[in-house]
Amino acid sequence: MAKEVYFFGAGHADGDGKQKELLGGKGAGLAEMVNLGIPVPAGFTITTELCTEYFRNGGRFPDSLEKEVKRGLSRVEEVMGGQFGSVENPLLLSVRSGARVSMPGMMDTILNLGLNERTVEGLARRTKNRRFAFDSYRRFIEMYSDVVLGLGHEHFEALLDAKKKKKGVRLDTELDLNDLEELTGSFLSLVKKELKQEFPSDPWLQLWGAVGAVFKSWNSRRAIEYRRIHQYPEHWGTAVNVQAMVFGNRGNDCATGVAFTRDPATGEKKFFGEYLVNAQGEDVVAGIRTPHSINGTANSLEKVMPAAYRELFQIQERLERHYREMQDIEFTIQNGKVWMLQTRSGKRTAHAAVRIAVEMVSEGLITEPEAILRVAPAQLDQLLHPTLDPNAPKEVLANGLPASPGAAVGRVVLTADEAQEWVGRGEKVILVRQETSPEDIHGMHVAEGILTARGGMTSHAAVVARGMGKCCVSGCTEIEFLADQVQIGNRQVRKGDWLTLNGSTGEVIWGRVPTTKPDLSGDFGILMKWADKYRRLKIRTNADTPHDSAVARSFGAEGIGLCRTEHMFFDPDRIDIVREMILAQERGEREKALAKLLPIQRADFKGILKAMEGFPVTIRLLDPPLHEFIPKTDRELEDLARRIGVSVSKIKVQAEVLHEANPMLGHRGCRLGVTYPEIYRMQVEAIMEAAADLTCEGVTVYPEIMIPLVGHVEELKRMREEAEQVCQDVLNRRKIKCPYLVGTMIELPRAALTADEIATVADFFSFGTNDLTQTTFGISRDDAAGFLPFYVDHGVFPKNPFVSIDVQGVGELVRIAIEKGRKARPGLKIGICGEHGGDPDSIQFFHEVGLHYVSCSPYRVPIARLAAAHASLKEKAN
Ligand code: PEP
Ligand code: MG
Repeated sequence: MAKEVYFFGAGHADGDGKQKELLGGKGAGLAEMVNLGIPVPAGFTITTELCTEYFRNGGRFPDSLEKEVKRGLSRVEEVMGGQFGSVENPLLLSVRSGARVSMPGMMDTILNLGLNERTVEGLARRTKNRRFAFDSYRRFIEMYSDVVLGLGHEHFEALLDAKKKKKGVRLDTELDLNDLEELTGSFLSLVKKELKQEFPSDPWLQLWGAVGAVFKSWNSRRAIEYRRIHQYPEHWGTAVNVQAMVFGNRGNDCATGVAFTRDPATGEKKFFGEYLVNAQGEDVVAGIRTPHSINGTANSLEKVMPAAYRELFQIQERLERHYREMQDIEFTIQNGKVWMLQTRSGKRTAHAAVRIAVEMVSEGLITEPEAILRVAPAQLDQLLHPTLDPNAPKEVLANGLPASPGAAVGRVVLTADEAQEWVGRGEKVILVRQETSPEDIHGMHVAEGILTARGGMTSHAAVVARGMGKCCVSGCTEIEFLADQVQIGNRQVRKGDWLTLNGSTGEVIWGRVPTTKPDLSGDFGILMKWADKYRRLKIRTNADTPHDSAVARSFGAEGIGLCRTEHMFFDPDRIDIVREMILAQERGEREKALAKLLPIQRADFKGILKAMEGFPVTIRLLDPPLHEFIPKTDRELEDLARRIGVSVSKIKVQAEVLHEANPMLGHRGCRLGVTYPEIYRMQVEAIMEAAADLTCEGVTVYPEIMIPLVGHVEELKRMREEAEQVCQDVLNRRKIKCPYLVGTMIELPRAALTADEIATVADFFSFGTNDLTQTTFGISRDDAAGFLPFYVDHGVFPKNPFVSIDVQGVGELVRIAIEKGRKARPGLKIGICGEHGGDPDSIQFFHEVGLHYVSCSPYRVPIARLAAAHASLKEKAN
């Protein structure tokens, strides 16, 4: 039988800090502190393995445990000099949970265990502090009843409040001995009345009840929910730490507090924390009494108990140096003596994480690779966008999906045109829509933020907003559209009213909440440079405008992995020409419209290629279903007919012709190019003309022409031939040389499975994992919102496959395509440009399968750089 109980105390611990899996984070931290000679009340840890065993046995302790606990307890008694259950010199215990990772507030704790009507008298005599003894007793009855007997806190708090009211006092500390004695009496009667049983007075029974309850709290609803959110497995279990009590509530030379070795909000190297005199742990957290800062103020610990503060300061310095990591500590001071109750690595903001990592390298505490691995890539999101001032008050009206991070403040407008008009007048606006369509793009572009009632994380609004780095809350079902206003939650919101969005949480907030701007220089810049040194994957961006390209470049992008040309077609200045092209009934007419588009596209491509000078730019030829360009309402149809001089009936007929039941699986991608080759020819000509112009101007460009939605080699063969011909024509005409590539997206299962054939005519592959996920799962990207959140919430899927790559299914197709593609064409350049290119877990996978680059929206470029470095460093460590 494995060892079940690990003792710690008086300079010796059975375990150590490395045994987090077995002893839990708290148990390992306590053992490590004891081994370091730091004062820790003696105790013992019952292992996580025993917790698993307990559940396996249907909630029964193994027979061997009793003996081990008894032995542990007698060692604690020996070290601490008291006796559990004795009236003369009672030893009291705390019983706390401690899983291998911290799960704040999720599981249970019991303090002052061992008290009953006799031991309380002993404690009173021994400490010569009867008030303290009864204060501890009433706390114990309440905690034990709540955690072990299932009689909630509120019953006891009601009695406590009634007592305070009767006495006309506000704080617990203002109650006298008499009050507390009466309270313990009424607490015990309450238990008897409500539970029809006496409160257990035998300390030994109390201990077993508490240990069982802590184990059971691993399977409490809130703990299960927490595990599900963080994807912690059930089999980890929790350890139980049984430890001698030390008291922060035994008088005015006693205190308790929590502290961090550095400021967890800013990362500043400064001992930071709060404490309360004459209090027990939960008082600090509960917020009934306001704790004081431990240093820097008149009533700080530093001033009130200088000797204890000095000792505590030295301990925290020592712990940080030992762990080489910012620590979050808990302490109690009993009659002037400092005792440590916990040490663990502290949670911190992204800003603090970066600063601490960089400063610890310059302090010689950690190495560059360690610093890189200390910052979670996803956390950087907080730094790249404006954020809401966390201290500002706010009235949250409703919650939607956190579709695109950051914060936005603006006045409500309800159409894209209004957005443009208001911004033209110098206003800042939030565009509120039922859902967005490509025709709203001009409004989205000028708005500070976007709020939609419908649509999921991959809806049009979400994808476009992320691409623009614009805050977006989508799928906010609590919005109701009325004539000229909207109802959001309980409030009617009129056009022009101020609204604040938090795209990182999905909150929709009434009024104006102040925001803070991102700062990408300093420590952030240093960390990013280190990340670049260690990563193997290249990072490109998905960008459709020179502005977005420049932003991405400033974030460190090394080229464009996807320029979606259809986004250029939606520009209000040119959409009518595009419509003319689509409505054309024969090729001649269509070519006329295309000729008008050519110079416009050439200018677009010139801007982008120039912004990315010296880097490759992958331009994808037109992809969307054509009917997306045709207006829907009669009024819009009539307006269009007037503008382009075509009859309404003709437009309607063409709209009918183009209508599709499943546009995502319809006439899009290279199917457009195959059936209307003149469209792709115009685009290729515009790309090569732009490249030629720039080459003549001395700008180095690397255009890469990408054919979308290829499923069969024949499609690519034809498109490639067309493209090559146009490229050669342009280069011959302009008498210049310019390197270019023609490649394809791999975004259909058939393309992946026949990648060897496709590679024979492709210079490069770029995985379109959005469509590949859609077509592998058979889940429409546009319609997933109806059921996918349920799937994820209820564990049918471990995570949303449109956000993080499904390694087993979609990932397997990626592996097959890489293997087959490279076999047919060694050295084939391969990247990914679906939304997964910015997701850290997916980037780990793309690194492992050996891609050359990932491409993501501009604001995710730094996240991808860091995630790629993590992937490399983790690989080296294995
Ligand atoms: C994809 O399918 O992954 C892709 C990048 O193309 P789009 O999202 O434009 O369909
Ligand atoms: Mg696609």
